[in-house]
Amino acid sequence: MLENSTRTELSAMGEFALIKHLTEHFEIKNESTLKGVGDDAAVIQYEAGKQILVSTDMLVEGVHFDLTYVPLKHLGYKSIVVNLSDIYAMNGTPRQVTVSYAASNRFSVEAMEELYAGMLVACKKYGVDLVGGDTTSSTSGLMISVTAIGECEAGQAVYRSGAKEKDLLCVSGDLGGAYMGLQLLEREKFVFKDNPKLQPDLEGNDYILERQLKPEARRDVIEYLHKIGVKPTSMIDVSDGLASEILHLCTNSEVGCELYEDKIPIDLQTYDRAREFGLDPTVCALSGGEDYELLFTVAMSDYEKLKEAKDITIIGHITAKTSGTNLVTRSGGSHPLTAQGWKAF
Ligand code: ADP
Ligand code: MG
Repeated sequence: MLENSTRTELSAMGEFALIKHLTEHFEIKNESTLKGVGDDAAVIQYEAGKQILVSTDMLVEGVHFDLTYVPLKHLGYKSIVVNLSDIYAMNGTPRQVTVSYAASNRFSVEAMEELYAGMLVACKKYGVDLVGGDTTSSTSGLMISVTAIGECEAGQAVYRSGAKEKDLLCVSGDLGGAYMGLQLLEREKFVFKDNPKLQPDLEGNDYILERQLKPEARRDVIEYLHKIGVKPTSMIDVSDGLASEILHLCTNSEVGCELYEDKIPIDLQTYDRAREFGLDPTVCALSGGEDYELLFTVAMSDYEKLKEAKDITIIGHITAKTSGTNLVTRSGGSHPLTAQGWKAF
């Protein structure tokens, strides 16, 4: 390290390029490691029958959450849910979590009790056990790291890499709401800073606020797909925005896709607030993130089974890699998708 005189800023490399760069020399040495770095969760199998899924996420104050408007109880709930979402995104069932945190002396016992009260609600709701963690101090703020452990039957895990040409591209729920909730909270924080006497004006925004502050993992969607006998060919959860997740699926599966703008599910409240904020609702859905919906592909032959599903929308289809990853706009134009939304020209 010391003889290396050049210095490259972390920000010079994209997050995914950096992960790849740092982990590329770690060869898989154990037969039980079926899938390592690169999907929503690692897949491990020690014996025939069941596979184990493991996923970790870290939340850092000032980066992932702002305690001026995020109640600690909600933060606790969300920190569990976002990890469970990664297990569902593998078509698995979460069973255990470990929770580690670093907190500065700004935090009291009562504050940590609030955080854990939220975690308890999430653990109860999703039927997972808190089985360990680590506790340490921090010189600046709060950091929370949660690891989720889950399981699935051997052969049932769904990877980011299984999409095939002609598959249908589907998403659960609606998109962009969590981002609009965040925009609203940020605006009210700004107004409050300017004039602390003003009460926050959050009325009529319950849905988008809930999407931001108290997201849910789509266990119901996994159960529904199981019930109707549909196994997705590929899947990922929408944590960074639809565009970025579609690109992950397509890159990993070595395919292209056509995404139809007019099919992207956007809730009315999300749509209205986006317009008020002078934002394009489609861009909010493509780039917003934190919706924790499931994005997946299914074989065309499953269309009949899926068309009745009320909270699943077919938003496009998979094409050959050479066709690229494109957004077909309402006006019929076709634009290459980028992680930030789409390249207009
Ligand atoms: P997700 O959005 O589903 O949580 P990430 O984008 O955080 O996934 O991570 C992508 C993949 O890279 C995952 O398989 C994750 O386990 C792996 N990964 C992320 N950070 C690191 C790291 N620091 N070291 C090793 N693997 C990592
Ligand atoms: Mg994920």
